[in-house]
Amino acid sequence: MGDGPVDPRRRVPRTDTLLADPVLAAATATLGREQVKAIVSHAQGRARRGELNPDEVRDAAVAALPTPGPRLVLNATGVVLHTNLGRAPLSSAAVAAVVAAAGHTDVELDLATGRRARRGRGALDALAAAVPDAGAVHVVNNGAAALVLAATALAAGREIVVSRGELVEIGDGFRLPDLLESTGARLREVGTTNRTTLADYAAALGPQTGFVLKVHPSNFRVTGFTSAVGVRQLATLGVPVVVDIGSGLLGADPLLPDEPDAASTLRAGAALVTASGDKLLGGPQAGLLLGDVEVIDRLRRHPLARALRVDKLTLAALTATVNQPETPTRVALHADPGALRERVERLRDRLGADGRKAEVVPAVAVVGGGGAPGVELDSWALSLPERYAAPLRVGDPPVLGRVVRGRLLLDLRCVPADADEAVRAAVLRVPGDD
Ligand SMILES: *Cc1c(COP(=O)(O)O)cnc(C)c1O
Repeated sequence: MGDGPVDPRRRVPRTDTLLADPVLAAATATLGREQVKAIVSHAQGRARRGELNPDEVRDAAVAALPTPGPRLVLNATGVVLHTNLGRAPLSSAAVAAVVAAAGHTDVELDLATGRRARRGRGALDALAAAVPDAGAVHVVNNGAAALVLAATALAAGREIVVSRGELVEIGDGFRLPDLLESTGARLREVGTTNRTTLADYAAALGPQTGFVLKVHPSNFRVTGFTSAVGVRQLATLGVPVVVDIGSGLLGADPLLPDEPDAASTLRAGAALVTASGDKLLGGPQAGLLLGDVEVIDRLRRHPLARALRVDKLTLAALTATVNQPETPTRVALHADPGALRERVERLRDRLGADGRKAEVVPAVAVVGGGGAPGVELDSWALSLPERYAAPLRVGDPPVLGRVVRGRLLLDLRCVPADADEAVRAAVLRVPGDD
């Protein structure tokens, strides 16, 4: 060691120091140690050549990591099915099933005979067992795909008769009428925005009719002078009735009395029910089609079905979800407000012990995901100064709350109970000066 100024190259952080950085260490889990090491040594090289200050090496390496895929977020928004957060989180049973199905699988093979088997029969059998009123079942990519397949196979070049009160926009500019007409089917609109009668439907029927469509207006409510025709009445018209129930409830849920379910809708006489897999069912993104055997057969055999078919990972997650329906979505929906309050109070007390002032406030959670717009769920939230919102959102793991009148509310209803400690640690990582 000489007496002169330290050679800047000597101060370039060592590889093992950099690999111990929490962000870089976490990256080795997904990218592998060799790739992260290469990124680190590239940044060290730039510092040795004088292109970077030694204290910029860590940040340069982090910035050079590939953009990560979707990250796990702690959902403290109080919105159970948050569309921007990927709607339903999978149950641990579904996650385990996805992991198990990620290699070679028997998704299309009967191991007993060694012969080709019906693709995804586990999911189809589980759905058929859960909804015995369905003669047959088919699964496609999402709810929109289910409608496209139904419209194409049953009404291309013909008419779909639908109430003007049910031509809805689901969200993000996705409009049902545009989707249906993109298949080559024509919409025959009947009734008015607020009132449609059985006679309106009857007057529109003719040789051109493909089917009557009933859409659950899942993200808004029309109140006042209204009237709509139920499935039971529509089924008397003598043409197939297709019902888009949206949310994917297989059976009735007393907590959500206005949400239609597949079993009741089929019992009322629907020939076909379409629904999403990642809303109230609490499973993976998927489109469920349940209905009469002949109708489902026509859908399955249509060439378009191949383009809409689901991946083995989806089938694995769906099977596990239907077989074991105590999903995180159900748990969050049915969480007891008293128990939520205790969790929030415990969190407040523990943060208080670390010098962080937070309050416990009542909150209102919602179903979200374009479902059950009239339902309010009593909940409890931790209230923090608004300045916590941004650092928590960009933290690791990100914690997403809701800003209301200058306060950040963290509603624990959709946070798994075993993640309260992660929320506490995330709050403590935000520099505290309050
Ligand atoms: C959500 C929804 C859809 C679209 O389903 P995706 O699974 O998002 O494609 C269609 N119709 C209704 C009534 C819905 O609620």
